[in-house]
Amino acid sequence: MPRIRVNLKGRPSDYGLHPWIFKDKVKGVIGQGFEAAVYVKGKFFGSAFYNPEGKLALRFYSREEEDFTAGLVYSRIQRARHEREDILGFRGAYRLFFAEADNMPGIIADVYGDGVVLQISSYGAERLKREIVEGFRMAGYRWLYEKSDSYARRQEGLEPYEGWHFYDEEREHVWVEINGLKFKVPIGGQKTGLYLDQRLNWEVVARTMRGRRRVLDAFSYTGGFTLHLLKYGVEKVVAIDEDGDALELLRENVAANGFPRRAVDTFSANVFDMLDSFLLAHERYDGIILDPPAFAKGRNVSGARRGYFTLFDRALRLLEPGGILAAFSCSRHITFELLREEMTRAAKRLLREVKVLYWLHQSPDHPVPVYFPDAEYLRGFLALVY
Ligand code: SAH
Repeated sequence: MPRIRVNLKGRPSDYGLHPWIFKDKVKGVIGQGFEAAVYVKGKFFGSAFYNPEGKLALRFYSREEEDFTAGLVYSRIQRARHEREDILGFRGAYRLFFAEADNMPGIIADVYGDGVVLQISSYGAERLKREIVEGFRMAGYRWLYEKSDSYARRQEGLEPYEGWHFYDEEREHVWVEINGLKFKVPIGGQKTGLYLDQRLNWEVVARTMRGRRRVLDAFSYTGGFTLHLLKYGVEKVVAIDEDGDALELLRENVAANGFPRRAVDTFSANVFDMLDSFLLAHERYDGIILDPPAFAKGRNVSGARRGYFTLFDRALRLLEPGGILAAFSCSRHITFELLREEMTRAAKRLLREVKVLYWLHQSPDHPVPVYFPDAEYLRGFLALVY
């Protein structure tokens, strides 16, 4: 049983099943440790990681009275695997733990083939890392690599950490198959190796752009969209990313899937500069994908607004009538409404007709609990432009 007891102010219905409790709601703490049995009005309310130093005091990992053990981690892995594989039908690579959404506070785990990349950003999970690692070993994974470099980690007072926990053989990359396509995944690359949150959008966007002549994949990384576009018969993809190593992998991915090399042009450059030079050169596209990094880290979104306006303006100028535009944001604070407003502003100035066909979300292996809307962060749309 958790060693410390934390009493909260108020009544259970004040909290619902929200996974977080801030310090100001704590009435009293009995004992010392970082696993807490939480009580409200004298009744047991849940088991949580306790951080005595942070503003975010409690993060629930269970509504039962139980310790955070390797056995608990093991059973969470089985459940999450069932959701991702049996319900969603995902294979190859997917997000197994999406932190609070899977009652694993501050713990992200992405499966790549027979191994896992782990990211830890909560005080409690950092201290119970041995249990987490043991749980993954029990579940039969062949390797476990940790890449804990998130911004959230710093807010909990933790230093970045990166390294192996166990492996059958040390490796720098793994090959995985997603939607029938082979991807070379760099262990220790951007994020945990792939932008798995786009997994479903790769399909939807590429299917809608099937057979197009010339599509621009801006902010391509290792080619999630590019490979899917080629799978759906797009004749030419122009991929831009400032990360030259990512583009190297993109070209390897193109070759590994048997697509002709000439089907893809890559530019290691700043997207904003490239869009301007394409305009000067009178280039035109019948599909454009914009998948930039997070433009807004916090609540201040004015810089992000300007960024989106510029991207939309350039994209509309580069798109032929009848072209398709797909655009995304991965900042929690950029709403669908904000994206729509900036799109409208750009369209109005150029007198272009823009029809949204799909509003798009993060893939469902990144689920959003109703008590925790903060888990929604990836938003986008796909529109037809005349
Ligand atoms: N579309 C990708 C994910 C893109 S993540 C996929 O589905 O897999 C954002 C990418 O933008 C990163 O690869 C990063 O290297 C790149 N990037 C960030 N700022 C950039 C800029 N100004 N110009 C070009 N690339 C940029």
